[in-house]
Amino acid sequence: MDEQRLRDVNEAGKHAIASISDIPLYIDGKFSDSENKEKFDNISPFTNEKINSVASGEKADIDKAVKAARKAFKGEWGNLKLKERLNYIYKIADLIDEHIDEIAPLESYDTGLPISQTKKMVARAAHNFRFYAEMVSSRLVGDVYQVDDEFINYTIHKPVGIAGLITPWNAPFMLETWKIAPALATGNTVVLKPAEWSPLTANRLAEIIDKAELPDGVFNVVHGFGETAGASLVAHPDVELISFTGETTTGSEIMKNGADSLKQFSMELGGKSPIIVFDDADVDRALDACTWGIFSFNGERCTANSRLYVHENIADQFIERLKERVSNIIVGDPMKNDTQVGPLIHTEHYKNVKSYLKLAEEEGCEVISGHVPDQLSSGNYIAPTVLLNANNGMRVVQEEVFGPVIAVMTFKDEEEVIELANDIRYGLAGYVWTKDMQRGHRVAQKVDSGMLWVNSQNVRDLRTPFGGSKHSGIGREGGHYAFEFYTEVQIIHVALKDHHIPQFGKK
Ligand code: NAD
Repeated sequence: MDEQRLRDVNEAGKHAIASISDIPLYIDGKFSDSENKEKFDNISPFTNEKINSVASGEKADIDKAVKAARKAFKGEWGNLKLKERLNYIYKIADLIDEHIDEIAPLESYDTGLPISQTKKMVARAAHNFRFYAEMVSSRLVGDVYQVDDEFINYTIHKPVGIAGLITPWNAPFMLETWKIAPALATGNTVVLKPAEWSPLTANRLAEIIDKAELPDGVFNVVHGFGETAGASLVAHPDVELISFTGETTTGSEIMKNGADSLKQFSMELGGKSPIIVFDDADVDRALDACTWGIFSFNGERCTANSRLYVHENIADQFIERLKERVSNIIVGDPMKNDTQVGPLIHTEHYKNVKSYLKLAEEEGCEVISGHVPDQLSSGNYIAPTVLLNANNGMRVVQEEVFGPVIAVMTFKDEEEVIELANDIRYGLAGYVWTKDMQRGHRVAQKVDSGMLWVNSQNVRDLRTPFGGSKHSGIGREGGHYAFEFYTEVQIIHVALKDHHIPQFGKK
């Protein structure tokens, strides 16, 4: 272990990193190799050297995990009293809190996301479990409908069955717990297929949940590639629902693949979100929000404001200040406290983002980049970058780059900017900056996006829905939306007195 490199990391994190070993699957309450005994390498985004090996699950492992999950659903887990089930959920939350200091360092080590940012993100994980435990205890009975004095009808929410959860590598721990918490709290059993580029914290989570001693088979983790492990989970006839977060094209592939078994889907997909800055905005705050919104989490963030539309009256001043910010951003080792932008997750992704920078030049943008220190040359670093002279006709404006790159455009009036903001297939998030609150509400309501922040930047409240419209997703996570997704609603009709029933065949 490189002591110098980890000098800003707490003792728990140092210990967790020093203890990294090869990663097994977690099926039916046991850690094991994959059936085929194959492994793949987990590579550091900072050094591009191997961190460890990961068991490479495939169809046979998914079959095993689904069988275990079904057995638990029909058996011990399904028969638990609600209070007993929720006690397990609270226990997971407590155990996550107990180990939280290890998670952020592991996450940064594996993904390249700066540690100051992963610390804040993973801190919310335990809350996900407590939040859904509380929601479930208060929402088992849904609506009640009384019909005259003859009938009473009421709905109940029952677990759907086996939840297949497929997650990406950006913010892996947070996104996994966001799905696992409502899935388990509502009584389902789970097979998780984490992203192959960021397996460390998914494995730590399996170890933590193992400590909570849930009945065997309730929670399973099958590491592996999307085309094998992921596709087998989606196609499995005994899996009732798939909650997916990842790229739009993958989401579309998954929906085709799951169609034969009529699965329910929740799709959290890509984004290319606009930030609209009017000429009456609080420019200092808008600039802070714009810079944070695109360059935090290395720009590998679904809700990143990767398209800036700034009013022409303030454009020169705003762009100059944005360029200055970019030149001062601290690009560095993700394990250091002062690093603002770290290396991208993987060389494959790095090459993809690089190819977009080349494309931007070919399309006529002026490409202005910040600085990557020479000593970082072994990592997948892309300097924070501003694309000037961009327009909506460019691929680099229409497609998700998923790196620290912002395309900058100007506008004349409200009508024009709404049209520009909506002229795209994505509809995940949007941001509007203006002091005129009538306009703030008006524009917010006209932008095609699942989420829209006015004079704010991506502040989340777990009670509110999270997700996108258009090609950015189907359905919503968070709050009661996740509760609805992970439960089957049943209406029960009860007669309060004998009523007329046609007497077919009666003599
Ligand atoms: P990805 O689609 O490449 O992979 C996501 C997961 O899907 C991985 O676990 C992968 O192994 C699996 N997968 C790949 N092909 C599969 C297949 N055919 N069948 C089943 N599973 C398959 O996405 P990524 O590169 O890991 O993540 C980045 C993307 O995620 C970006 O587009 C980003 O915008 C999006 N994202 C969206 C949200 C949201 O809430 N809307 C949040 C985070 C990330």
